[in-house]
Amino acid sequence: MQLIREFDPWKGELCTCPEKYSLSPYTGCGHRCIYCYASSYIRDFYNPRPKNNFLKRIAREIKKIKETSYITISNSSDPYQPMEKNLELTRKTLEILKEYPFKIMIVTKSNLILRDIDILKEFKNLVISITLTTLDEEISEKIEPFAPLPCERLKAIEILSKYFPVVCRVDPLIYPLNTGKIGEIIKELKKRGVKQIITSTFKARPDSFKRMVKIFPQYKELWERLYIVEGERKRGYFYLPENFRRKLIEEVYRITLEEKMDFSSCREGFSELNTKNCDGSSFFKV
Ligand code: SF4
Repeated sequence: MQLIREFDPWKGELCTCPEKYSLSPYTGCGHRCIYCYASSYIRDFYNPRPKNNFLKRIAREIKKIKETSYITISNSSDPYQPMEKNLELTRKTLEILKEYPFKIMIVTKSNLILRDIDILKEFKNLVISITLTTLDEEISEKIEPFAPLPCERLKAIEILSKYFPVVCRVDPLIYPLNTGKIGEIIKELKKRGVKQIITSTFKARPDSFKRMVKIFPQYKELWERLYIVEGERKRGYFYLPENFRRKLIEEVYRITLEEKMDFSSCREGFSELNTKNCDGSSFFKV
């Protein structure tokens, strides 16, 4: 099986990403976010492991990819998850990739990315996407138990944005867990140099829904009503009702534009609100 694959996980009109490739040094993810959708596609997801012979295979496969291509690292596991600290597979992958003129986007929740700033500076066309769902440490510890705290991510964003275009995924919006203080999050990100906010609402899969209600039993009834009774079903996901989603997304849109940043939403069907590509790739140099 190819390690560098075309990114098209949803094969449908809801994904508005430009053409790109994706690669992940790891299978599964040790950040163990309770809302993660990847756990319903990947066996034993929360028991992460490095991919076999990853570096050798990448070095071989990369030669077949057109040099103008756009590659994201990674979409279904975090490239800077805890085991990267010792294994350095992502770092070694970057060492291979920097010899090519690809457009590279790194998607992570971890400040461990700062360790590799020396290599990242050698890329000619790089965008960094950091995910921040809340400023509240207690909530973060519950929903992203092994990911760095929000304050550590904010510090990383501030440093990275001095050198690279940084976009931020405020994603997922989990009503009412992290939707009440969205303005504070966006303002904080603006201060740290973020160029674009990318957002989407939590879309439940049966396993992520179970994890969510186990950790937040006080919202069980509300989420069952919103997602299962009144919500929509799209490609195996439970969505919030469309009007409800639109209200949440439009609030983020409004505040983001007030703060003079670019905006996009992801897999919502509201692409008319996007001021740039939905994934932050508009910040690549042409
Ligand atoms: S960091 Fe991303 S891939 Fe890893 S568990 Fe969290 S949501 Fe899933």
